[in-house]
Amino acid sequence: MAAFRMAATSGGSALVGESDIGALRARLRGPLVQAGEGGYEEARTLFNAMIDRRPALVARCHGAADVMAAVNFVRDHDVLVSVKGGGHGIAGKAVCDGGLLIDMSQMKSIRVDPAARTVRVEPGVLGAELDCETQAFGLATPVGTVSTTGIAGLTLGGGQSWLASKYGFAIDNLLSVDIVTADGALRTASPTQNEDLFWGIRGAGHNFGVVTSFEYRLHPVGQVLGGLVIHPLSHAVDVLKFYRDFTASQPDELQTWAGILTLPDGTQVAALVPCFLGPHDEGERLLMPLRRFGSPIADTIAPLPYVAMQRLFDGSFPHGRLNYWKSGLASRLSDEVIMASVEYAKTVPSPHTVILFAELHGAYSRIGKSDTAYFHRDLQYDAIILAGWTDPGDTQRNMDWTRELFAVWEPYLARAAYVNDLGDEGEDRALSAYGDNYTRLTALKAKYDPSNLFQLNQNIKPVVA
Ligand SMILES: Cc1cc2nc3c(=O)[nH]c(=O)nc-3n(C[C@H](O)[C@H](O)[C@H](O)COP(=O)(O)OP(=O)(O)OC[C@H]3O[C@@H](n4cnc5c(N)ncnc54)[C@H](O)[C@@H]3O)c2cc1C
Repeated sequence: MAAFRMAATSGGSALVGESDIGALRARLRGPLVQAGEGGYEEARTLFNAMIDRRPALVARCHGAADVMAAVNFVRDHDVLVSVKGGGHGIAGKAVCDGGLLIDMSQMKSIRVDPAARTVRVEPGVLGAELDCETQAFGLATPVGTVSTTGIAGLTLGGGQSWLASKYGFAIDNLLSVDIVTADGALRTASPTQNEDLFWGIRGAGHNFGVVTSFEYRLHPVGQVLGGLVIHPLSHAVDVLKFYRDFTASQPDELQTWAGILTLPDGTQVAALVPCFLGPHDEGERLLMPLRRFGSPIADTIAPLPYVAMQRLFDGSFPHGRLNYWKSGLASRLSDEVIMASVEYAKTVPSPHTVILFAELHGAYSRIGKSDTAYFHRDLQYDAIILAGWTDPGDTQRNMDWTRELFAVWEPYLARAAYVNDLGDEGEDRALSAYGDNYTRLTALKAKYDPSNLFQLNQNIKPVVA
């Protein structure tokens, strides 16, 4: 009987009979494709062009039954598996070499229940697609700040968004999920079903199986007051110190991010990016000090449709660039972080690189650190170096610059990272995302995925207590 060599979960390779692959193909509603077949290149291609992996097989799933068949196949044959939602994960864990890729990107159903203010979403959906359906009813749920991002991976790690301070993370609005676990069973996890799994999914969810459906709570969200206030780089230290003071006491309705970036004409700037949800006169009043500070070279703050705010930075992060990120969480932005950022910006190797300070407070921070698997509720700032460039010959230079700036930052950040920002940075950094919830997560992993079938993620090792 002919056999097919695939990468194995336990390392090395697994020999799988042609007939077993034929049996899997017969069970699937969606296509099972390999190199050279339609859909293969699209499925294996990720947002981050640094990742170029070639799975032996891709199951382009059309529903939960396809996922169950694929999970049973990889478990029974010891085949390495990866799971792809929107393909935006910077670490590129969604695609493996030589194994089976469970590709969820074709599963795009969205059903809004406007009366109950809930939405049921399949995992191939992108932020813009979800916003489009929910905004038809004047509703929204928090799913990121760049609308091309996949909702699946984003939600399972937490889900920062412009709505986080008012309504919490994506996970804080999750009502239930359907998930195929390593035993091939489809389970519902919610506050009343498989509660332990529901806890783990909210912040460490890439580790426990393949989510086939997300149910979220929706909120009324209409126009926002948002945009950019832009200052020259020469004033950036003062602007970022002002930003730190301004963000120390904001109401839940106002969230403000800041960044150092290069405009399309090559001008390097520091930008303040507020988003206010609420009555516009109150927003105008709250934003007055931010708009009056210093001598901005541009101020685009205006009432915007929520989807326009969501799309503000889509163009800055196109698919297919080379990306390398380093990030860490902090309770406060120190002078050292601010000054190093401005100093390093002067020698940034690529105009596509952004130094970002995302800021979170309010509803996000009022949830207990062990109420969900997402631990770092007390840390207000996510400091991220988003290095992006186009020429592979520039890779080393961009990575070195990013690492050097991060090394200066590191002593002034908490030993904590947002799991969805992490690259392939080793076990310690992965653990730093889970904080003191890690021990509980290892026991949960042992219960639902004892052989670590789902290991292509910021991995939690199964440990029997
Ligand atoms: C341009 C850009 C902007 C971003 N902005 C934000 C932001 O505003 N807020 C924020 O919180 N994050 C943001 N992120 C980070 C984002 O949360 C992660 O990139 C996230 O992984 C994206 O999800 P995805 O489904 O596209 O990822 P993928 O690359 O498909 O997957 C990432 C991880 O999730 C797992 N996974 C995917 N689908 C499933 C599933 N159905 N079941 C189980 N596991 C699954 C994968 O196996 C992988 O380990 C941004 C990323 C980019 C590139």
